[in-house]
Amino acid sequence: MTIKNKLRTGIGFLFVLALICCGLSVYFLNRLSADAGAILKDNYKSLQYGQQILTAIDANGGPLNDAQFKVIDTNLNLEQHNITEPGEGKLTDSLTAVYGQIKQSNHDAALQNKLHLQARQLVYGIMQLNMNAIAHKNDIATNTATRATILVAFCGAFLFLVAFSFAVNFPGYIANPLKELTARIKEVSNRNYHQQIDFKSDDEFGELGQAFNTMTKKLDEFENSNLASILFEKRRIETIINSMHDAIIGLDEKLMIIFANEVACTLIGMSAEQLNGRYAPDVALENDLLRNLLVNDQPKLKIFADNRESFYSRESLSVTSKGKVIGKVIILKNITEYQQLDEAKTNFIATISHELKTPISSIKMSLKLLEDDRIGNVNTEQRQLLENIDDDARRLLQITGELLDMAQVETGKLQLNFGSTHPRNIVDYAVRAIKFIADQKQVTIKVKCDESLPEVHADLDKTTWVLINLLSNAIKYSHEKSVVELVVKKRHSDEIEFSVQDHGKGIEEQYLSRLFERYFKVPNATADQTGTGLGLAIAKDFIEAQSGKIEVDSELGSGSRFAFTLKRIA
Ligand code: ADP
Repeated sequence: MTIKNKLRTGIGFLFVLALICCGLSVYFLNRLSADAGAILKDNYKSLQYGQQILTAIDANGGPLNDAQFKVIDTNLNLEQHNITEPGEGKLTDSLTAVYGQIKQSNHDAALQNKLHLQARQLVYGIMQLNMNAIAHKNDIATNTATRATILVAFCGAFLFLVAFSFAVNFPGYIANPLKELTARIKEVSNRNYHQQIDFKSDDEFGELGQAFNTMTKKLDEFENSNLASILFEKRRIETIINSMHDAIIGLDEKLMIIFANEVACTLIGMSAEQLNGRYAPDVALENDLLRNLLVNDQPKLKIFADNRESFYSRESLSVTSKGKVIGKVIILKNITEYQQLDEAKTNFIATISHELKTPISSIKMSLKLLEDDRIGNVNTEQRQLLENIDDDARRLLQITGELLDMAQVETGKLQLNFGSTHPRNIVDYAVRAIKFIADQKQVTIKVKCDESLPEVHADLDKTTWVLINLLSNAIKYSHEKSVVELVVKKRHSDEIEFSVQDHGKGIEEQYLSRLFERYFKVPNATADQTGTGLGLAIAKDFIEAQSGKIEVDSELGSGSRFAFTLKRIA
């Protein structure tokens, strides 16, 4: 049965009960009133008639007069029409007969007295009969009232019980399933799909329960199929990550460790179970490597693990979703092999450069001797050849010098001789050294360096080398007869900035960030491509070793501006 019909039936039943109660009350009230009416109407009237007849008989104590006869006639007549009790008719008939005899015995006083007595007794009899009837009917009315009270009370109590149980149970009947449904829906919203509702009724709640059960079953199936595929993918990714030779550590946005592959576990020296799910800074307190990874930003790390020393490059990737950072992945790539090869290469370069320097220097010396007229005359072609050889020897010497510097930087053997010097000294040395090349290209070097500038804390040779390199590049990539500006000025309170501005071809923006990388040369740069691509890299190392900064700003077609800073003497 539907809830609607149940409601209708319940309320209808209460209504019927209330009607029955009212009906019974009305019925019994009617009966009581009928009983009371019967007493008043019949018996009480008979008593009145009898009373009046007796009063008429006893009015003067002698023979009856006409007025008395009239009263007796009237009341006797009324009594004859008000016979209600068994035996009352007979007594009334007897009274009528005696009354007739009284009427005919007018002159016989003794007979009249006797007849009056008989009449009185008969009237008393009738009155007694009616009084008994009144008492009896009163009993009946009392019984009826008692029965009515009991029945109405019973009906009322029954009605009360039904209404009470209705009032107590009905809200629960509606609210309990809704409460259970709400609780289950909350569970479902927490992705707990194993929810089934057992509404046994065949009403709307029963249907709702079935629909809910079907929904959770389907959700569960979907979740399981989804979960299975997600788990499968997770296992696959874990297998891939574990089979990699690089160490990989995944952290969520709250720095909780999500995963660490086998290589990472070996390096950290902890098992995946000890790492996964833990707050990384907590683990870092007891693990040097993890602390290093979280705190430092070094791109290269030396790690002692598995009883040997290895080199790792460190890469940290932010994982984003919908523009929000949801974690990061730290990748440690084993570069021990490259590191060893790199070291071998650096040593090799250092040795070769060093070994080449002496023969090249002696070539230059020999060339100087050959050019000297005192040794002997050379013709014009031979002089030209000698000049070419000298040029090549100079370039070779520059290259070997740069390679040697590079090797020094890479092997950490860079030695700085700090001293206090005026920027003007650095500028003068550099401009003097580069003058020959500038003149060859008819490039003017405009210098702006105030004498009032404070002294700087620098390695004079290395800084001059850097400035020469920048000026040499500026001239190299400038058009003939153009101007290169060398400006020295204060930057911030404690820095002096050296800048070299040319108006040459400039550099494409995409290459700017790579200019200071080793061996990097801008592809297809039209100028003389004989350089090593090491100049700016060495310059950066020299400047940073002196706590300075080097930067570039360039616009294709307009020229470039290279600048570096040095700390001033306080
Ligand atoms: P190189 O010895 O090849 O000049 P550098 O490290 O000094 O090496 O310069 C790297 C590259 O930067 C050069 O190959 C050149 O393409 C570019 N470059 C450097 N200075 C300038 C400049 N002033 N104008 C344009 N390009 C420049």
